[in-house]
Amino acid sequence: MSDFALPPGDWPEMMPGWVWLVGAGPGDPGLLSLHALNALSQAEVIVHDALVAPAILDWANAQAECHDMGKRGGRASPKQREISALLIDRARAGKKVLRLKGGDPFVFGRGGEEGLDCARAGVPIRVVPGITAGIGGLAYAGIPVTHGQVNSAVTFVTGHDAGGVTPPLDWPAIARASPVIVIYMGLRNLGEIAASLIAAGRRTDEPVALVQDAATPRQKVLETTLGAAAEAARAAGLGAPAIVCVGRTVLLRQALDWQALAAGKPLRNRDPFGPA
Ligand code: SAH
Repeated sequence: MSDFALPPGDWPEMMPGWVWLVGAGPGDPGLLSLHALNALSQAEVIVHDALVAPAILDWANAQAECHDMGKRGGRASPKQREISALLIDRARAGKKVLRLKGGDPFVFGRGGEEGLDCARAGVPIRVVPGITAGIGGLAYAGIPVTHGQVNSAVTFVTGHDAGGVTPPLDWPAIARASPVIVIYMGLRNLGEIAASLIAAGRRTDEPVALVQDAATPRQKVLETTLGAAAEAARAAGLGAPAIVCVGRTVLLRQALDWQALAAGKPLRNRDPFGPA
């Protein structure tokens, strides 16, 4: 454990034989919750995925047994079973087990599945939510997921499942009902998704942002349009992890790009929805 101290308070104690499912946020260690930090300081076993930044693991107890499940090969479902089996095995061995996941464990993160596996095995769990990439990652690009002048609804979708299969989404319904659409794992099928949205009536010039490695020092943001997004992403060489935002809130980045401000750059437009 580093010399970071939690503020005084009644922090929950990890009990032997329990599994804590904890979200680590999208990248920046500062987005970790105090409950997550508390868990890191107590865990005897840490099972984390590839999206958890090494700087966050630096806060772990130095004696903790660390399992990086992100670097393992193999197909999706056996891997998932393997992770649950590891959690259950270490808990049954009487360890204090921390399952640390990128973003929020219950948002496209299979936290529910792992929690259910623990429940079926009689292993007790605690859940610590995290800041999900589809909200916090976009905020790091200066993009709000809701804005009064744009939307009263936002839809979070996944572009493909863990096995790479595109889920059967009702794109016409989503296109009609949701002015802002946030797509996790959207790069691979972006062309197909954009075509579905355009076929359902969304404009080809609708603003789209792609944020790769959001909330990390490697963050890259591409502003494009629905019609051009797939080709632009390819041309820019974007890769996973990337979050895609479709909708007019993307324009607000012109005024809300706080990382540009921090780097001493001027805002592009102080009032993107005002008079030109
Ligand atoms: N539970 C996670 C999501 C896991 S699914 C969460 O709540 O954020 C993995 C997908 O999440 C990635 O393919 C990408 O679409 C998105 N993602 C996670 N971290 C990201 C990051 N730092 N930058 C951009 N996208 C990210």
